[in-house]
Amino acid sequence: DSAINRIAAGEVVERPASVVKELVENALDAGATRIEVTIADGGKTLIRVRDDGCGITPDALPLALSRHATSKIDGSDLLNIHSFGFRGEALPSLGAVGRLTLTSRARGYEAAEIRVSGGRTDPVRPAALNSGTVAELRDLFYATPARLKFLRTDRAETQAVTDIIKRLAMAEPFTGFTLRDASGGGEGRVLFRADPETGDMFDALHGRLATVLGREFAENALAIDAEREGLHMTGYAALPTYSRGAAVAQFLFVNGRPVRDKLLMGALRAAYFDFLSRDRHPAAALFIDCDPVLVDVNVHPAKSEVRFRDPAVARGLIVSGLRHALANAGH
Ligand code: ADP
Ligand code: MG
Repeated sequence: DSAINRIAAGEVVERPASVVKELVENALDAGATRIEVTIADGGKTLIRVRDDGCGITPDALPLALSRHATSKIDGSDLLNIHSFGFRGEALPSLGAVGRLTLTSRARGYEAAEIRVSGGRTDPVRPAALNSGTVAELRDLFYATPARLKFLRTDRAETQAVTDIIKRLAMAEPFTGFTLRDASGGGEGRVLFRADPETGDMFDALHGRLATVLGREFAENALAIDAEREGLHMTGYAALPTYSRGAAVAQFLFVNGRPVRDKLLMGALRAAYFDFLSRDRHPAAALFIDCDPVLVDVNVHPAKSEVRFRDPAVARGLIVSGLRHALANAGH
């Protein structure tokens, strides 16, 4: 079914950043506390994600690469999804668009690895690894030069990878993240680093905010805590004076997943409308949590868009929650 894999791959794998997102989400699902990402040439020649999570047993390695084999859901509970991955699509897709090596060691087992390239899978063989998992994708789109051409410059792709890592790092403040650029070979140059935060969720988020957006921002951010008809919003939002010229300072999460949803982004802008000029963006990290039946996060395989059962409630929560906080702070 390598043709099927290739077609489906197009939905999941658009660019190096989408590969990184899938692999890091797998690491998070595996309970990793430290995740190290290494890329080279904007991720075009190398994407490697190393984690200290639960690992994969040798006999489960081939399963991890087969379509719709997921260990995370049994099919009876599609609306109640708590892990990131649930389709069993990412790894087979990656095996179809590049040279994928999965090396892993589950507790109590020997380390093993499996390779797949161009949709062809080699047998599992012994490997050397202390614990966790290393997923390595080399030569993305090598078999489809047409798609390779659609990628942007190494610099732009590296930026997109950095953005996605920052979003995931903001979503998971108790997990440590390192991003390296190994374009020149060797271990690589550190592009981003966030050590695991401690304390309660608000403390941890505040610490992570300082790492990602800067200490000045974190120290001048308003704590947000609002609720409307079953939707609960927590997090931090900047005073208008700490707005940014770029949109990368907006971190929105729905039930723990980073989203880039038009409705939510629009609501965020609307909340700040009276305070910001057109070229300034509000800076915020907001977490909306609700019963999974109130929101569908299954709109797109990349899982970055969401559909609320009542979009007006979601918009109202953001606009009124933020305006209220801004008013309390004297705006
Ligand atoms: P999904 O995440 O939707 O289940 P994937 O194709 O991304 O599908 O992964 C397939 C399976 O491989 C997962 O269900 C999981 O069992 C296993 N797996 C993938 N990456 C890791 C990892 N980093 N650590 C442990 N298990 C993993
Ligand atoms: Mg996955």
